[in-house]
Amino acid sequence: MSQSAPAIVWFREDLRLSDNPALHAAVSSGRPLVLLYILDEQTKGLRPLGGASKWWLDKSLRALAADIKQAGAQLTLRSGQSADVLDTVIEETGAETIFWNRRYDQPERDLDAAIKEDLAQRGLDVSSYNARLLNEPWQVETNAGGYYKVFTPYWRAARNNFVARDTYGRHKTLSGPKPESESLDDWGLHPSNPDWSTGFDDWTPGEDGAIARLTDFLDGPINGYKEDRNRPDLDMSTSGLSPHLRFGEIGPLQIWRAVHAGMEAGTIPEKDGHTFLSEIGWREFSHTLLFYNPALASENYNDSFEFMPWRKDKNAFDAWTKGQTGYPMVDAGMRQLWQTGWMHNRVRMIVASFLTKHLLLPWQDGEAWFWDTLVDADPANNAASWQWTAGSGADAAPYFRVFNPISQGSKFDETGAYVRRFCPELKDLPDKYLHAPWEANEEILNKAGIQLGKTYPKPIVDHSGARQRALDAYDTLKEKRDAA
Ligand code: FAD
Repeated sequence: MSQSAPAIVWFREDLRLSDNPALHAAVSSGRPLVLLYILDEQTKGLRPLGGASKWWLDKSLRALAADIKQAGAQLTLRSGQSADVLDTVIEETGAETIFWNRRYDQPERDLDAAIKEDLAQRGLDVSSYNARLLNEPWQVETNAGGYYKVFTPYWRAARNNFVARDTYGRHKTLSGPKPESESLDDWGLHPSNPDWSTGFDDWTPGEDGAIARLTDFLDGPINGYKEDRNRPDLDMSTSGLSPHLRFGEIGPLQIWRAVHAGMEAGTIPEKDGHTFLSEIGWREFSHTLLFYNPALASENYNDSFEFMPWRKDKNAFDAWTKGQTGYPMVDAGMRQLWQTGWMHNRVRMIVASFLTKHLLLPWQDGEAWFWDTLVDADPANNAASWQWTAGSGADAAPYFRVFNPISQGSKFDETGAYVRRFCPELKDLPDKYLHAPWEANEEILNKAGIQLGKTYPKPIVDHSGARQRALDAYDTLKEKRDAA
């Protein structure tokens, strides 16, 4: 191999220049660099990105391209089947080595393995790295040699055994050939006709946005995270880092290091720092579950859920997606999702519980809706969290734990600021009725300018009745499971 032949850095879910091990190794090789992103909507088996994720990808690639340009090189954009595109770029540039960071879902792993084997047979060198996780799934094993199925012992083992390497700094100078590149404008990732993304403007996709968000969060809002992380009515009660992590604009190691530095310096309380890192732990756990259960987004982790008598009800599903269920906390969550591409974790649990229990609709339908509408839609976190809420997952909330959308609202949106923001038609309702408008009498409703059934829906199901129906369905599951 000639040392002057270029190396390809294939960016995928690692859209950053700092602490990017594949990029770091490629730079260290001293070769000219071809910095490549492939939009692969053609390889069979890969799950197409949802609309909100495409919006994010568009902005994230623009930011990466600008950062790379500033460093003196070019982000080359190509679309098509990954294997074919790589072949073409190798031929055009004479590249002899390829660097990438690993992915953990099965179709991508199969694709990467096939490409690696093919290139190796042709004498090309492929090196892969971990940019996405603190521990890769196979690095945390039980004493018996399997993977952990329960979070607490998983995280204890993962955290205690983790040795954090130093992070790699941002690469400020990059050089290499500039092959022809497609244009992001032509990829049409930004929605048009209609452009539903106007409410997404508060986000700053890209590495600078990710670092700024981490810094802002660690400089203040992380204080009190342990208690406040369940409060959707508070600004930045959680970090908002999920889409940045999803697209790899920041890696968990950078977060781990920054949080530990803050705890050591005494600027981050230990209780808050550790609670925040344990959420990163849930992300790691979810990736492990996906790695060992490739069908996590479509098949019940717990087989007995095959016996759950799910309903089919298009009207109910549509009301849920549109935030028109008549339960303010559910509706506020679903509208936050639609308007901003994101939803607070506490509210994700409430709306997911409502779909799978109050409406008795399959969790897969909710997973798919989230996949399309979340800017942080993640193959591991989304699938594992839906199964967790539905009761079918590993270490899941038991199915009989039915979230009460009324008391959850009063408890976690105590000030009502969250519901008032996303359901403005209810804003003049006194706090006492905000989470159950149907309990207000005609006079109170009139005073607040509300006509139930017209300006805001009546509840599409009765809470107690729906709860009982869910519990009965679960009994049916148990009976059928025991009889099988
Ligand atoms: P923080 O509280 O600031 O947490 C920091 C990071 O930890 C997050 O960015 C995220 O990467 C990770 N994290 C936090 N909570 C969880 C969790 N329960 N499981 C896994 N990782 C977690 N998260 C996604 O990133 N993508 C999804 O598609 C997704 N779908 C979900 C679906 C449902 C039904 C539920 C209940 C949760 C889902 N989550 C998902 C998990 C969680 O809601 C989000 O990660 C969190 O709300 C993101 O906000 P944040 O960055 O401010 O979180």
